[in-house]
Amino acid sequence: MKYKHLFFDMDGTVSLTRNKITPEMKLTLQQYIDDGIDIIIVSGSHNEQMTYQMDGVPVLKMGQNGNHAEHETEGEIWCEILTPEQKSKITEHTKAVWAECSHVVPNEDDLFEDRGSQISFSLYGHNANVVEKKAFDGDFMKRKALLEKVPYECDETEVKIGGSTTFDYFKKGYNKGYNIDKIITHYGWNKEDCLFYGDALFPGGNDETVVGVIETVAVEDEEDCLEKLKDLRNT
Ligand SMILES: [Mg+2]
Repeated sequence: MKYKHLFFDMDGTVSLTRNKITPEMKLTLQQYIDDGIDIIIVSGSHNEQMTYQMDGVPVLKMGQNGNHAEHETEGEIWCEILTPEQKSKITEHTKAVWAECSHVVPNEDDLFEDRGSQISFSLYGHNANVVEKKAFDGDFMKRKALLEKVPYECDETEVKIGGSTTFDYFKKGYNKGYNIDKIITHYGWNKEDCLFYGDALFPGGNDETVVGVIETVAVEDEEDCLEKLKDLRNT
């Protein structure tokens, strides 16, 4: 196997949104780790949620699109915090987006999450039923249409489509691609030794920015990812 560092998106790539990884995914990732391969998860989610979902597999966690990097044993590597002004600009946009929506959600208080480095605005509910969430906008079309209708224009922050129902807002340019580049420099790794798997590599998706930084593999979902990971072992 030519790669030494495997990077992954989490929701829709290594696991079903907000769920623990399957025992088979866990075993497959653990085999790579046992072979000395680094596993790095770069997700729109926050690191506590990632710890739960990874179910004990020791990975380098890069939550909030990579703006909060934390090593399993070395601890925090960095944490980028949004300013109050940036947060209020983002909040204005989430309100404008919400004004365009007329659907019913399980809990209106479960839509807006300030994660520190990132604000995540879910159109259905962060903690809502996973099947309902996937049914709501599994093909990303609702969110793509909303962003076309209500574009987000800001010099300091930007928005990306992430997870299954969410808009991720973070510092402009501080996206997954930027943060992957930064961690590679931090550890002095070679880009040729790195590979990224993601389900949102399309234009506007929160994995898109990884394209051109390191080699990428597009996956349909966590089952497709598992198959592709198993195939990789045989290369
Ligand atoms: Mg994803």
